[in-house]
Amino acid sequence: MSDNRQVPFGKPQIGEEELSAVTDVLRSGILVHGKITPAFEAAFAQRIGTKHAVAVSSCTAGLHLTLFVKGVGPGDRVAIPAMTHVATAHSVELCGATPVFVDVEEDTGNMDAGILQSLDGPMRAVIPVHYLGLPCEMGRINRYAEQKDAFVLEDCALAVDSTYAGRKAGGLGLAGSFSFYPVKHMTSIEGGMITTDDDELAAQLRKRRAFGYNRALGERTRPGIYDVDELGFNYRMSEVEAAVGLAQLPKLDGWAQKRKANYERLRARLLEIDGITVFASERGEAKGSHYCLNAVLPRNGSLKRDEIVDHLSENGIGSSVHYPSAVPLFTYYKERYGYKSGQFPVAEWLAEQTISLPVGPHIEDSDVNRIADTFKEAVRKARNG
Ligand SMILES: *Cc1c(COP(=O)(O)O)cnc(C)c1O
Repeated sequence: MSDNRQVPFGKPQIGEEELSAVTDVLRSGILVHGKITPAFEAAFAQRIGTKHAVAVSSCTAGLHLTLFVKGVGPGDRVAIPAMTHVATAHSVELCGATPVFVDVEEDTGNMDAGILQSLDGPMRAVIPVHYLGLPCEMGRINRYAEQKDAFVLEDCALAVDSTYAGRKAGGLGLAGSFSFYPVKHMTSIEGGMITTDDDELAAQLRKRRAFGYNRALGERTRPGIYDVDELGFNYRMSEVEAAVGLAQLPKLDGWAQKRKANYERLRARLLEIDGITVFASERGEAKGSHYCLNAVLPRNGSLKRDEIVDHLSENGIGSSVHYPSAVPLFTYYKERYGYKSGQFPVAEWLAEQTISLPVGPHIEDSDVNRIADTFKEAVRKARNG
């Protein structure tokens, strides 16, 4: 092949706007507690269509902080999908509560609302994860939560600008937590954002992300004087991170168009291959965010993922896996709760047989063809042993 350029799975898009925004902040000497973080919060809230957005240090911090502020603790059960980033489960564990794992749908990888609805017993919260950015069946999930008097916290790490019934993810439950880790839809280096319409929750999130101070820096009548009447973290976002995030927002629409176009072209090419499942980016009322394209190999194991991934890497094509294990089968959860393989068949199949291919804004038309050609070649090679 003539073109040997590396095609990475993800690549943060950093331009002149981000560079100059960062140097401005560094030169200003105000690195936290400045005006950029509130500006980023306001712009993000407006984009998602929620009343509030609270910037935090990561999506994981946002999930943990929200559960903590809602008083989730020992004895509480929280329903989460068995196929997600371990962050979702850890946020529950960190509160001393118990994650209740729900297997996922085989055509979307999202929490199976039918299985959720069959769960008996008390449930304090539900954390639907919009897998690869496709919104979960929020109608059924919200109905279940209402019956149980549980609140819904969306894991929106991969769901920037995803919509369900015309509303954006992050505004579909009580709150949503987004990630700005470098290879997500947009970055603030590290960082996250919690969106909510709930005034009281937003105020508490702001207070508890900063030690539980009773007065924010700007509210102090004498410098350095505050009281602490509640427990809190340091989960703040820095001004440098907020400046990067804010500079990215105006570029999101263009990136989204590129993602969608790349996704559709790659999907059409991969559907030509027998036996490969390609996850859809839309279903019913749900419209996804085209985070990546997942090709899933047959359940009978006739194709070995390692062989395909190795062939892709040898030819310069980056890929990823979302995610490498059903969460209950990660060693920590397995040893703690005694889960066994076979209990979450769909999540386990995805963990073993899914390959995430890049469709981000760094991918050019010629890359799409190369990815598809190389993938086809890899399958042919793997089939012929
Ligand atoms: C990446 C990711 C997270 C973690 O995000 P951080 O900002 O790195 O904490 C959580 N949930 C999902 C579904 C993710 O993909």
